[in-house]
Amino acid sequence: MDRSGEPALRLVIFDLDGVMYRGREPVPGAAALVAALHRRDLLIRFATNNSMTTRAMYVPRLMAMGVAVELDEIVTSTSATIDHLRAHLPEVGSVMAVGASGMLEELQEAGFDAMAAADAVDASYEGGPLDRSFGAVIAGLDPSFDFRRLAAATTAIRAGARFIATNADLRYPTPTGFLPGAGSIVAALRAASGEEPLVIGKPEPGIFSAILERAGVRPEEAVAIGDNPDADIVAAHRAGMRSILVLTGVADAALAATLDGERRPDQVARDPSDVASLLGVSLS
Ligand SMILES: [Mg+2]
Repeated sequence: MDRSGEPALRLVIFDLDGVMYRGREPVPGAAALVAALHRRDLLIRFATNNSMTTRAMYVPRLMAMGVAVELDEIVTSTSATIDHLRAHLPEVGSVMAVGASGMLEELQEAGFDAMAAADAVDASYEGGPLDRSFGAVIAGLDPSFDFRRLAAATTAIRAGARFIATNADLRYPTPTGFLPGAGSIVAALRAASGEEPLVIGKPEPGIFSAILERAGVRPEEAVAIGDNPDADIVAAHRAGMRSILVLTGVADAALAATLDGERRPDQVARDPSDVASLLGVSLS
């Protein structure tokens, strides 16, 4: 407890795109903010809904931007899904993966008996029981998604596998436009199976709750810093955490002034040095 009676801050969760960088460009001051928080011995996590990129791929990317980061500080919607399974569904050992190769690798490295949906049925599959059962179907962004994968995953879910989505983002931005996101694939699985998924990624609280549980930190001892009210700020509310909206990404001051309900952050910061002031840390 500090003098105000509030629990002391122990953990800061950063969003990545729009907070640490915009596309390939670092956000000025973000690396200095992270360094200052490290000097204060605060726990730091970087949380992204991305299910295609592995945690290890983010380390050199952030290091190249001057952000000192360790593998354990990176949390993707896939790694949070793995943490959720371990903590809450320990009986699940075999999983079907509807996702990119990075997702399948992470599930296998985490010790799951994981099979790609494409390998669960052959090209001539005409319905009917699969050769084996699955404890869960994990659905993320799968650039090879097709009817065969949809059929395999739907059959597994209807046979009793838990339906878990890494995230439900319907689309995501590219340098030249938009592409369908994991949520569009999840929507197809939901329609075909008639089952509702457990969604881990933002705006659902699962990704933040998995971070808190693993770190042994209570929600009131943590803050989430993000640029997207619909994702970062809503997830923080649902996880019971304080939130700071930083205006270096998708939201500007005019939008911030209109936010209410779950989309309203506790505080708004113009940039990383403003975040430092709000957290009471010195950048120098
Ligand atoms: Mg963002």
